This record gives sequence, structure tokens and C-alpha cells, in this order.
Amino acid sequence: MKNIPEVFGSMAFNEKAMAKYLSPEVFAELKRAIVSGAPMNINIANAVANGMKEWAVAHGATHYAHWFQPHTGYTSEKHDSFICSDGNGGVLMEFSGKELIKGEADGSSFPSGGLRATFEARGYTAWDPTSYAFIKDGVLCIPTAFCSYGGHALDKKTPLLRSMDALNTQAMRLLRLFGTECERVIPTVGLEQEYFLIDHERYDKRKDLIYTGRTLLGARPPKGQELDDHYYGSIKIRIAAFMKELNEELWKLGILAKTEHNEAAPAQHELAPIFCKCNIAVDHNQITMEVMKKVARRHNLTCLLHEKPFDGVNGSGKHNNWGLGTDTGINLFSPGSTPLENARFLTMICAVIKAVDEYQDLLRFSVAGPGNDYRLGGYEAPPAIISMCLGEDLEKILARFAAGKGYGKHKQETLKIGADALPGIPKDTTDRNRTSPFAFTGNKFEFRSLGSSMSASDCNTILNTTVAESFRVFADYLENASDFQTALQDLIGQTIRRHSRIIFSGNGYSAEWVEEAAKRGLSNYPSSAEAIPHALDKKNVELLERHGVLSRTEIAAVVEILLENYCKQINIEANVMSEMVRRDIIPAVIEFSGKIASTIAAKNSIGGYHKFCHRTETELLDNVSTLCDQLYERCEKLDRATAATADIEDMAQRALSFRNKVLPAMALVRESSDRLETMVSKNIWPYPSYGSLIYRV
Ligand code: ADP
Ligand code: MG
Repeated sequence: MKNIPEVFGSMAFNEKAMAKYLSPEVFAELKRAIVSGAPMNINIANAVANGMKEWAVAHGATHYAHWFQPHTGYTSEKHDSFICSDGNGGVLMEFSGKELIKGEADGSSFPSGGLRATFEARGYTAWDPTSYAFIKDGVLCIPTAFCSYGGHALDKKTPLLRSMDALNTQAMRLLRLFGTECERVIPTVGLEQEYFLIDHERYDKRKDLIYTGRTLLGARPPKGQELDDHYYGSIKIRIAAFMKELNEELWKLGILAKTEHNEAAPAQHELAPIFCKCNIAVDHNQITMEVMKKVARRHNLTCLLHEKPFDGVNGSGKHNNWGLGTDTGINLFSPGSTPLENARFLTMICAVIKAVDEYQDLLRFSVAGPGNDYRLGGYEAPPAIISMCLGEDLEKILARFAAGKGYGKHKQETLKIGADALPGIPKDTTDRNRTSPFAFTGNKFEFRSLGSSMSASDCNTILNTTVAESFRVFADYLENASDFQTALQDLIGQTIRRHSRIIFSGNGYSAEWVEEAAKRGLSNYPSSAEAIPHALDKKNVELLERHGVLSRTEIAAVVEILLENYCKQINIEANVMSEMVRRDIIPAVIEFSGKIASTIAAKNSIGGYHKFCHRTETELLDNVSTLCDQLYERCEKLDRATAATADIEDMAQRALSFRNKVLPAMALVRESSDRLETMVSKNIWPYPSYGSLIYRV
């Protein structure tokens, strides 16, 4: 790639393309609609559609698609070509404003959690003009939201956009009180995406990876990640070629791919783009995951986005860096240079503390998924208990406020918000504690619980909404105060005193923390089966309804979809495991035992005076046979647990049964199988080993 600035965004209908393909009036109208979110009149929409089509055709596109994000967590698209008959046996390339703005999606096959009764089988897609259209494999993709005709959100984008509006509304109320000049407050997001790359041929030999995205069986290799020699290590040639092509593809799409490096586990890597507006960052991340998979295949690699593809080494997350900016370029989580700016900064921080404490359960809910459960709580991933780490300096300052004391040279007096300068909060002293789920990192928060394969939409919807709620409560209080400074002083002190239980900077993996967290009254939902139903708790429904983000009906649908997905995923895993054991592993073990038995028999049958010893064979045969029986029995038990669980009518109970009955049964099968793998001849074992999967790329 020669000229990055020139190629960058060449496959996105960005401002540069708009300026070229739209008249100045249309361009101005489109920009207005993008900023204000106001609907566009049909003449303008027609002109935009036409310009977009001209641009797309000039860049090789033949089709267009409304690109949307249903609750599967993947993106969906249905392609339509631009052609229409010219009436004389030829074709014209057409694309109308109507087709741009709204599409029909026969969504009956998408999960809707019962929202779309049969009489309402069709949904529609609606253009999100704030996210640029782009070309992917000759298709003009138009980012859209997906709703039912009754107006219910059937996707992940609709609630996200609603939450951004709610956050803006409440933040503006608060900023007015601080005299901050701006017209909009925008959540910003930067997503660090972790992933594994393995050789495609080896991948292709593993049913578990193919069907479930993770290994269900596999003995640990003699070497894991204990030497820490992979993190930031030099990048192998084949991987470097992948990364180069990936960057180029992403840059073409206008995605700001910035940082790449090896991660802690062998075969694990990370890519981080430069942050941008929340909904766009989420869209870009969805595209990034898709491009990663495609580019990997061109290098005869497979990209694994599962949260825990391999036991015993790190899983993959997606750190969600979340900030708040204004349209005038202010970062609201940056400590300012004046006392008033510092007061604003502390108010913002307090709003987040209150939000995370009051809605821990919703944050846990927002990262729920069976894959992520295997990852949380170990190997550099945060635990399932949600807590916050703010860094020593900030925590000290806040504690002083809570206690009504001064800081530094103000030691004797009460630290006055908005009047005293705060000591500097150097960025680099902030947290590097990898076990914290939610850390303040200088000028943004990093929510680390999100899983690598998940859409970043849900967690940002929750973050935006819960912080909007804090802003609402703060603004209500401060707007009615007779003295702003005094009221703010009280508000900050009070907030910290009330919510300091959520702040924790110790070791999140320790058993003491689990105990301590319980004492503090923090919620602890180790599994998604426990976490998901809490979205329907009264306070959570009230919150989401109050801010117009999700109605009770919509939340109930999401809960249903998530629980169903949880059950289906584990059900598939259990079935795949059983099939691998019954059809591949047990036959291999029997073959191996047969060979040993024949050897013993052959040795015994040799006549003459010399008796050949066969202690090794006998002991091995004995051990392998015992383990094989155990494996068989455990597999039977697993099948029975799966069948009994699948019969449970109530979805929430079924999910709990998958967690409490099926997962432990799977763990036992795995234990027997993994022990056998270390005894049975490599030539007979039916699957590539962990060692060959993660070391030989
Ligand atoms: P690290 O977590 O390794 O310290 P960085 O500090 O470089 O990494 O940032 C990680 C991610 O956070 C990047 O995607 C970066 O663009 C993003 N980021 C930086 N500032 C903000 C912000 N104000 N809002 C949202 N994301 C941000
Ligand atoms: Mg990070």
C-alpha cells in the first residue's frame, strides 16, 4: 500500500466522497441530518441515494444491502442489485431515497424473544445516517437499525442510539450549570480486540472448534504461557502478513486501525483502533471482526474470536474504553486546569461511580454470554463481580472529599469544590491492575469484562443509560439549589460516601475479595444464567424505560433471547463433546488398547525358553482400559444430563440446569479424555493437540 491517506476511507461514503458525489445543498442537508438526527425530506434522500449509488458503482459495487445487527450478535444483510429494467431489454442502475431510508426485512428467522408474533412477522430496517455506508465485497452496505412494525427494537443498534440521546440530554443539563459551552455530548469508544490465529488445516480437524468456536477437549501442552514470552514478542512472518493485509482492508473502510501486538497467550494477538463516536466504534468493531475472519482465511489461518478457545491460557476480551466528549472537543473525564473545570471533572467521575454501583447487575448483564463465563475470573480477565479502580491519586482526593478534609497544602481545611485547585492527577499512576473490571485510565474508563466475540453495543447502551441517570439525578438536585458551589460540594461528598463500596483496587481473583464484596453488598453473578434475568428487576426496567432506551417488553425479549442462546450454545457444546468422545475418541482408545493387547499376546505366543516381559504394556493397557470405562460412563451421564435439561420448560430454569448440571458433567468427561490423550499414541489420537494448535502457526 503506497499512500495511506489516499486509500484511507476509499471504500466508505465519507465526507470526501459526499463532497464529490453530492451537490453542495444536498451535502449540507445530509450533514445537518447527521448532526441533529432530524429526518430528511424525500427529495434530499433521493439525491443522497443517487450520489451514493454513483459512488458505489464507480467503486465496483453491483448490489446494496441494509446492514444491521440483530440479537444474534452478528451482522445481517440481504443483497439487492441496483439493476432495473429500462423497458427496452436493457438495465439501468437505480437506487432511490426510499430504498436508502427504509428496508423490509423478513425477520422471522431472527431471534425476537417473542416480540414479533406471526401476524407481525416482518420488520423493517431504518438508515443510521451517522454511520458511513461502505462497500464490502462489491456490496454497498448501509448501516441500519432493525425494528418491528410495532416499533419495537429488534436489534442492538436501536437501543444504543436511544441511549446516546438520553446521555446527551442529561449531560447537557449538567454542563449548562457549569457554563460549559457546547451543543452536544458524545460518548466515545475505543475497542481493543483480542483474537487467536491458528493454522486453518489444523482447525479443520477439530469438530469442537468448527461447531463451537472453542476446544472442548485437549490436554495441556508441556509449555503454556508461563514464560511470558509471547506478550509483545516479535511477530511471526505469517502473522505479520495477516496483520498488514488486515490493516489495509480496515483502512480502506475508514477504520482507524492503530495498534497491533502479540498478546499473552501463544497464538493470541490484539488490534486496537483509535477511538471514535460510540455507535460508529461499535459498527467498526463488527466490521473488524468480519474482516479479521476473511483475511485470516486468505493466509490459510483461522481467526478465533471466542472468549476461551483454549483452556489453561488467557481468554480473549474486548476492552471497552469509554469516554465522554463534547462537540467542542472537551474531554469530560480530563482533569481541567481551573478549579471550575476540576469541579466538573469530579462531578463526572462521581456520576460514573454512582452509575456503576447502582447498576452493577446491568453491567454484568451487558457482558453475559456462555463464552464469556469461561473467561471471567482468571488469566488476566476480570472477575464476574463488578467493581471499579480509580487509581491511587484520584481515590485519595475523593476520600478527602467524602471525609470533608483538605489535601496537600489544604490539609487543615475542607477541600472546596470549584474553589481549590486540585493536585495534578498524572495519567500514568492510574491503574494497571488487570483484575479490575472497570478502571479509570487517565481520561477515560476501561470496561474490561466484555468478551471478544460479543457486540459492544449492549455494554455501551448500559453505560450510556446508567450515567445518563446519574446526570439526571445530579441535575435535578443542582438545578434547584440556591447555592451551586455548596450544593455541589454536598453532592460529591454524599455520592462518594454512598457508593465507595464499589471502589476496589486489590486482587480481584482472591477468595478474600469474594467474601469482602459480599460484605459490601456487591452483587456476584458468576454465570450468565444467573445474571441475565436481573435485567428485569424493577429498578432496571424503570431506568431503561425512564430514558426511553428499552421498554419492559423489549427487555423481556432480550432476556428471553439471551437465555435461549445460552441454553442452545451449551446444548451444542454438550452434543459435540459427546459425539467426539463416542465416535472418535473411544474408538481410537479401543484401537490403541487392541494394539497393546496384540503385542502382549504376540510376546506370550513366542515359543522357546525365553519369556518376554510386558510390564509396560500390561500397566498401560490396564490404565487406559480403566480410564476408557470411566470416560464412557461419564459420557453417558453427560448425555442424560443434557436430555433432562433440554426438557425443562422454563427458560431461566433450563439455563440454570445447563450451568449446574451439564457444565459439570462436561468437565468430568473432559478430565477423563484429557488424561487419555496423554497416554494414547499420538498417531492414533484423532485430533491435533493443543501444542500443535497454539504453537505451530
Ligand atoms: P492501553 O489500554 O493499552 O493503555 P490506550 O491508552 O492507548 O491503551 O488506549 C486504548 C484504547 O482507548 C484505544 O482504542 C484508544 O483510542 C482508546 N481511547 C483513548 N482515549 C479515549 C477516549 N477519550 N474515549 C474512548 N476511548 C479512548
Ligand atoms: Mg487496555
